[in-house]
Amino acid sequence: MSDVVGLTCVICHTTYPADFAGYVCPDHGSEGILDVGYDYERIAAHTSPDTLAANRDRTMWRYRFAMPIDDATPVPPLTVGGTPMYDVPQMARTLGIGRLWVKDEGRQPTASLKDRASAMGVVKAIETGADTITTASTGNAAAALAGISASVGMPNVIFVPASAPQAKIAQLLAFGSTVALVEGSYGDAFELCMEAAAVFGWYNRNTGYNPYMTEGKKTVGLEILEDLDWSPPDAIFVSVGDGSIIGGVHKAMKDASALGWIDRIPRIFGIQSAGSDYLVQAFEAGEDVVIKPPIVADTIADSISADLPRDRVKAMAAVVETDGAYLRVSDDAILASIPTLARGSGVFAEPAGAAAHTGLVEAISRGLLEPTDEVVIIATGSGLKDVASAMTAVAAIGTEPMRIAPDLAALQSALEARKDHRP
Ligand SMILES: *Cc1c(COP(=O)(O)O)cnc(C)c1O
Ligand SMILES: [Zn+2]
Repeated sequence: MSDVVGLTCVICHTTYPADFAGYVCPDHGSEGILDVGYDYERIAAHTSPDTLAANRDRTMWRYRFAMPIDDATPVPPLTVGGTPMYDVPQMARTLGIGRLWVKDEGRQPTASLKDRASAMGVVKAIETGADTITTASTGNAAAALAGISASVGMPNVIFVPASAPQAKIAQLLAFGSTVALVEGSYGDAFELCMEAAAVFGWYNRNTGYNPYMTEGKKTVGLEILEDLDWSPPDAIFVSVGDGSIIGGVHKAMKDASALGWIDRIPRIFGIQSAGSDYLVQAFEAGEDVVIKPPIVADTIADSISADLPRDRVKAMAAVVETDGAYLRVSDDAILASIPTLARGSGVFAEPAGAAAHTGLVEAISRGLLEPTDEVVIIATGSGLKDVASAMTAVAAIGTEPMRIAPDLAALQSALEARKDHRP
């Protein structure tokens, strides 16, 4: 048995038993997202930073002591989690902060952080005896669910906007999912998937609906803390669409704090594109996200394009309770961060991944950080997910390859010409 004690509605705070069969609070429908509660004393009695350090499993499942899954349940074979976090002193100096790390989630099996949630979704689907699992997604959650499902042979049905980047659609098709390209927004795909799941009885992995997705995503936060020997950074920057990742990062900090493994909680900064800034608007105006209506989202950072962030209650709490902030950045600035991050750290991120760096630059320019602050940015997805945006980004800063005849003289004159034009 897991150490889950119950599932608590984020709106009315009613707690349902650990074996509650629904996804959301019956009184609050799809707004009544549940938060998984644990018996931290019981966990601390059998697990400590030392027992963890002795565990040779480097995947996300090393944290299964703080997960809502039974000890006997098998986990998918793909290596999810254990991604590298790079110390980038030169970038920290350039930015004028104490220290900077880049957590590279592009190194996941399907190349985004979403593998952590989809792996949890597949495990829960297996536990409930479901024969099919489904999700809507801007692309990465879908690719993750498709890949993890393929690894255990679970049929899956995927709903993505028809405008999703080619690489993500290619992943879905290669993994053998039943793919619905929905002619509409992510919001439209979400509503259709929700309806279909209810009618056909498929296991519903949807973000900001299924309570267990946060419990998968939080493992990125636990890894960050463990990598730093449970000495937390001052701030963590994460890009935000539905708000599930940021809620997961916050949950990790709360778990570690409740276990007595960290003595303070880092400030959490949520970064949104100016074209998809629902939570920034709500943060600035002090609006109640339970009743704030959807916006119309439009951004090149497709993974953080959300008309109505589904996990907005947890997402707002992550920032407000940690004295962080929601920050708005332009698409142009996000694109500029792709080569800056790549050149400064060697990590190639898709627009939504690079946006964490853009947000850090914004926070520094607004005086929100101290010069001694130690900061982690989460690069949530690989640059290979969206090559078209990367090409736009490098063209915008005047980076061009040399186009030459295959001989040395041509190379020499091209190199000479380049010297004069180097930006
Ligand atoms: C999904 C995603 C995000 C945003 O996560 P939310 O939980 O929707 O806020 C950011 N970056 C990438 C690469 C993603 O795939
Ligand atoms: Zn409720």
